[in-house]
Amino acid sequence: MASCDFCGRTEEDPGRLLTWSTAVEHGRQQMFCTECSRTHVRSMEGKLDSEYW
Ligand SMILES: [Zn+2]
Repeated sequence: MASCDFCGRTEEDPGRLLTWSTAVEHGRQQMFCTECSRTHVRSMEGKLDSEYW
């Protein structure tokens, strides 16, 4: 099971986890759910840490 580091949502279905995004912030890997990935894709492409979203 994984949990979204932004909204805290959890996902147990490995198939759905494929649509999640990962990022490395402050030296540790974070995971973001599909919804947060979609919402924040521009910020992610800009390599901004989630604390600035
Ligand atoms: Zn999320």
